[in-house]
Amino acid sequence: MTAGPDFFDAGALVGVLTAQPLDRVLDYRAPEGGCHVGAFVEVPLGPRKVLGVVMGPGEGGYDLAKVRSIIRVLDVAPMAEEMQAFLQKAADYTLTPMSAMLRLATRAPGLGDPPSMRKVYRLGYSEPSRVTDARQRVLDVLEGQGDQAFTLKELSDEAGVTSSVVKGLVKQGAVDEVDTPRDTPYRRLDPAHASKDLTEDQRACAQTLDTAIQTSAYGTTLLRGVTGSGKTEVYLEAVAATLRAGRQALVLLPEIALTAEFLTRVQERFGAKPAEWHSGVTMTERRRCWKMVGEGGAQLVVGARSALFLPFRDLGLIVVDEEHDTSYKQEDGVLYNARDMAVLRASICGAQVVLASATPSLETWVNAEAGKYTRLDLKARFGVAVMPELRAIDMRSEDLPSNRWISPTMQAAVTQRIERGEQSLLFINRRGYAPVTICRACGHQVGCDHCDARMVEHRFQKRLMCHQCGETKPMPEKCPACEVEGKMAPVGPGVERLGEEAAALFPEARVATLSSDMFASARALKEQIRAIAAGEADIIIGTQLVAKGHNFPLLTLVGVIDADLGLQGSDLRAAERTFQLMRQVAGRAGRAEKPGAAMLQTFQPEHPVIRAILSGDEEGFWRAEAEERRHAGVPPFGRMAGIILSSPDMQEAFDLGTHLARTDAPLRQIGAQVFGPAPAPIARVRGRHRVRLLVKAPKGAALQAALAQWTGALKLPNSLRLSVDIDPQSFY
Ligand code: ADP
Ligand code: ZN
Repeated sequence: MTAGPDFFDAGALVGVLTAQPLDRVLDYRAPEGGCHVGAFVEVPLGPRKVLGVVMGPGEGGYDLAKVRSIIRVLDVAPMAEEMQAFLQKAADYTLTPMSAMLRLATRAPGLGDPPSMRKVYRLGYSEPSRVTDARQRVLDVLEGQGDQAFTLKELSDEAGVTSSVVKGLVKQGAVDEVDTPRDTPYRRLDPAHASKDLTEDQRACAQTLDTAIQTSAYGTTLLRGVTGSGKTEVYLEAVAATLRAGRQALVLLPEIALTAEFLTRVQERFGAKPAEWHSGVTMTERRRCWKMVGEGGAQLVVGARSALFLPFRDLGLIVVDEEHDTSYKQEDGVLYNARDMAVLRASICGAQVVLASATPSLETWVNAEAGKYTRLDLKARFGVAVMPELRAIDMRSEDLPSNRWISPTMQAAVTQRIERGEQSLLFINRRGYAPVTICRACGHQVGCDHCDARMVEHRFQKRLMCHQCGETKPMPEKCPACEVEGKMAPVGPGVERLGEEAAALFPEARVATLSSDMFASARALKEQIRAIAAGEADIIIGTQLVAKGHNFPLLTLVGVIDADLGLQGSDLRAAERTFQLMRQVAGRAGRAEKPGAAMLQTFQPEHPVIRAILSGDEEGFWRAEAEERRHAGVPPFGRMAGIILSSPDMQEAFDLGTHLARTDAPLRQIGAQVFGPAPAPIARVRGRHRVRLLVKAPKGAALQAALAQWTGALKLPNSLRLSVDIDPQSFY
């Protein structure tokens, strides 16, 4: 082999970035046979062997005799130059060390394993002689998962059976045991497999995207349209155009919307399943996805936010569906917003981005207004479905006993639906039974021992739970403070309690409560959702879980129990969030032929947000909200960063915060201001005290450089952690 600028002969000095928390590139010698820039390698680090990437020539300048050799080059596609550039820019933007970015980009197990065969299990052709419950579960798992390959362990775990149950089915030919190479390409997708006849509106949007994709250049498009208007149909056409161009496509969805229903829809469109990347995917499958994306054996990935860090070989399209969804922001570890990073990645690799939403984020709306993004609108719902009628129920004039939340007006509306054989959804954005548990003797409220948060009663699980850290404890019999027995009482409604009220108010109705806490597995939840869609419930009680993506054709009434929740609060995005959530929940009603209605229970029917929701004047809402933010100089008209300091010792965190606030010269130089330190709204999490500072800077300021200079001067004691949150979404 010959040495070129990208190739290093055996023994040459190269710089290797590892995923270990050392923030520098280490020197190694190229292994026998040499290596390319971008090669994934295994290197010795102290007594261990770790994964790394060859970044370029080594630094040298010290005792070269001590430099160790790369152990071997891994059997995976090298990291593309574009990917390196993307990780570097994302690291600079979020002020994250490159090692942490590399960890994010290599989240698949066994990348270093040599190629080998393995046994996987698939549905066979024979019927088992006797179908037990356990056997049925195995068959259900295989049937439900289409192309996913399962190892013996994965299959028995997923079905909740012992491996001998699977083996028994193999003997009978009901399950096939197949030897396959560990990682095989996904079946080819056919862009022409089953395209729908688009409406004129849809066709115009698809055409614009098609043209953009053919340029092979970067561009971002906001695809706006109410729920049910055909946004998914349109972006699947954009995926088809990308496949025809021979490039790869990525569809990002909020984790919760990654349902079997969605995957089946993609399969129907392209004749084969896409690669999947989310928390429900088996380890085997994760590894296959990662490798095939890199080798080009996966044309389309449907995934959650971290799929953005997969090693695509030639990415031509990124769709961010429900782009306003808050789950795109990762709130621990690397604090990144997948929507913004998608735009960054696309701009580096010459791809198109489609941001789809019924209720775009204000940032995206402003970018479209400013002409940075193309804007496409789908104006009508597909077919006969129309937007639901929206009205407020003024709770000040409703006659409601205490500890009841369903108003007489709402009750009457639900009764009417039950009589017509239609479904109603009662929505409340609060998990658990009651948000507060109070002692009626002394007034004590049960709090979490580790956090500054109240414990929430989960009656279904018979426990109290902290929604900050997940800590649970049994429901106390007597008050932990005054020790009086039998006086602990729930205060306020949660989704479980609302379910109880509905069951009491409508004794004849079938009530289904949908809350993430109530299902042992994602599969049980999916099953419940399927049953509801099939009409097996009259009343659905749900948290935001139901606000996303499901299609319930019989649903014609959405009742929002507390539309005021979320209007209060110091969060800069409170109004925007409430507006989006209400519009989306309301969008659940009347998706099929039957017209729907949405009713919002509120004590503030004159509140501008409630009024904008009711009048449906979305553009008016965005304009007013944008004006307010422009006036206040806050995002997207100014820049913000949060600094979170945490320590087991409150004083230590505060002292450092005060020190930072006093030494803000690097920030003042760019015209930025520092606010705080102040205790974070959740001042204690997992036993650590949290203190926040907020930095506000003018729009064009070089914020990251100033922040790096400002915090880089600090010497942090081990007990203290500092994290920087660029463009914070939540203020906890
Ligand atoms: P959105 O993504 O905007 O919520 P969808 O793309 O999911 O909308 O469309 C809503 C429903 O209407 C889906 O069941 C979809 O299959 C159907 N639909 C939309 N457009 C068409 C079309 N042109 N032909 C046939 N069915 C369509
Ligand atoms: Zn807690």
